[in-house]
Amino acid sequence: MDDPFFFVMKKILSFLKDYKKESVIAPLFKMLEAIFELIVPLVVAQMIDIGISNGDKGYIFQRCGVLILLAVIGLVCAISAQYFAAKAAVGFATQLRGALFAHIQKLSFADLDEIGTSTLITRMTSDVNQLQSGVNMVLRLFMRSPFVVFGAMIMAFTVDVKAALVFVVAIPLLSIVVFGVMIITIPLYKKVQGALDRVLGKTRENLSGARVIRAFNKEAQEIQEFNESNEVLTDVQLLVGRISALMNPVTLIIVNVATVVIIWLGAGQVYEGVITQGEVVALVNYMSQILVELVKLANLIILITKAVACGNRVADVLEREPSIADIADAELLKVAEVSVQGANQVKQQIEDDTMVEFQEVSFAYGSSSEEALTNISFCAKRGQTIGIIGGTGSGKSTLVNLIPRFYEAGKGYIKVDGRDVKDYSLTQLREKVGVVPQKAVLFHGTIAENLRWGNTDASEEELWNAIALAQATDVVKGKEDGLNHVVEQGGRNLSGGQRQRFTIARALVKNPDVLILDDSASALDFATDAKLRAALATIAKTKTIFIVSQRTSSIQHADLIIVLEDGQAVGMGTHAELLEQCEVYREIYDSQFRQEERGQKNG
Ligand code: ADP
Ligand code: MG
Repeated sequence: MDDPFFFVMKKILSFLKDYKKESVIAPLFKMLEAIFELIVPLVVAQMIDIGISNGDKGYIFQRCGVLILLAVIGLVCAISAQYFAAKAAVGFATQLRGALFAHIQKLSFADLDEIGTSTLITRMTSDVNQLQSGVNMVLRLFMRSPFVVFGAMIMAFTVDVKAALVFVVAIPLLSIVVFGVMIITIPLYKKVQGALDRVLGKTRENLSGARVIRAFNKEAQEIQEFNESNEVLTDVQLLVGRISALMNPVTLIIVNVATVVIIWLGAGQVYEGVITQGEVVALVNYMSQILVELVKLANLIILITKAVACGNRVADVLEREPSIADIADAELLKVAEVSVQGANQVKQQIEDDTMVEFQEVSFAYGSSSEEALTNISFCAKRGQTIGIIGGTGSGKSTLVNLIPRFYEAGKGYIKVDGRDVKDYSLTQLREKVGVVPQKAVLFHGTIAENLRWGNTDASEEELWNAIALAQATDVVKGKEDGLNHVVEQGGRNLSGGQRQRFTIARALVKNPDVLILDDSASALDFATDAKLRAALATIAKTKTIFIVSQRTSSIQHADLIIVLEDGQAVGMGTHAELLEQCEVYREIYDSQFRQEERGQKNG
């Protein structure tokens, strides 16, 4: 338990700052409760020494009344403490989860690739829950338990100094056991959480890939792999459980031995008339109060241990700087001023100005040393359509993902509308650039809600226009409730082609200057694909459109076609030029159009 403990405490506990009042009141009420509990053994002692030895029934009933009163006051205090502790803990977890979510949204794709989705989910859910119960229990017990332990010891001293020395020996012994177990288990709890991540990761992959797994008859293998990661988790948990389980028997032995010693010493002293019978009972009561409290303290410490392990994991995410830093507002203003001056002069003079410019751009994914893109340079003007073609894995998606700065170019620079992408705020840049990602993802909500993602104020007419351009009119008209048709999570109640068309419509509603379609027509039939291209041509004059495709037919009318192979641009030009000059392009074309067909056309 070195610095990370305090580091995490500081970082994580700052989320309690709106609940200062509750965080103080809860332990205070718990202390009050403890004070009333500590009085109880004294009342019982009086009952024995005065009421029972004198056979005074009235006195006994009166003391019983006092006991009930103490119990009721204690209960009220306990409930109040519980209320405030729960309020603080839940509020704390809400804020922490919110901050975590907001931070994750800021992380770049490269960061998310590296951390992994399943661990982020565990951190946002189970880890935060663990922290929540940690905070709850700490508020309730961290003052109360030590207070009762030491309070009981002090009360014992007021009863009899000699007998109380037993407490002085027992309490440090108990503390050694409790803290020893804690120090051993902290690192293990970290391992538990890691193993849980892997089980969750496996589960996720399995559920989302269920169809593929069945299609390939991989159930048995998947089950075995799941069992393996599950067993790892079980083993670590068993180990932690066994060590923690030692704590209770060991503490119980210490406390019971201490009780025996108290009774043994006490008996002698009662015989000598130094203390009364009631006082011996009070001492035994104090010892058992200490035991109960130590068991609670031990559980609290286990909880804290888990919470710290979880807190570390949460703090890791919060501490992680987004690898793509968004430009600060002050800087942005400076850049904006300069560029407004420049832009005003230049604006009208070039109508067909450069929209997207790559200058010797190279890029490698964090996890790999090989470059996914090498030395790419090109210029795309307003009103142009750029086709990008190449085999799978040739770097097409990588290239277009650099334009909205999903990933940061390693070498070279990328300019959008005359300004380096790094000089935009991410919001500004992504307003200018609309992307239809290769993987069509829709969210739970109506069609209209999904389409309004890029522009919340879009009118219904604008939606229908976008839908028409994306060739999805029939799809929407075919649904009973039209635009209000509910799309399930991930769009799973739509076909692949329908999903693709809606993602295109969604990008069109945003009305961006640069529109990127990353293999967005792959699930469309040739006729619909052709209609889509014709529709896009009608809006192409004011925009720059990137069409990524594996089909030459999708891009052959583009103003500029970039042919990629292994991250290199092996050809650049129009369809006709490339057919003449570019071997790779010709091969792709030939493989898609039978030779004879070409022969006929040429001949
Ligand atoms: P395409 O879109 O042309 O099929 P990509 O641009 O997706 O190809 O991929 C280009 C290369 O980069 C491939 O070799 C692929 O393995 C690698 N790659 C793609 N995405 C990632 C990623 N997130 N992390 C690491 N490598 C990646
Ligand atoms: Mg791709």
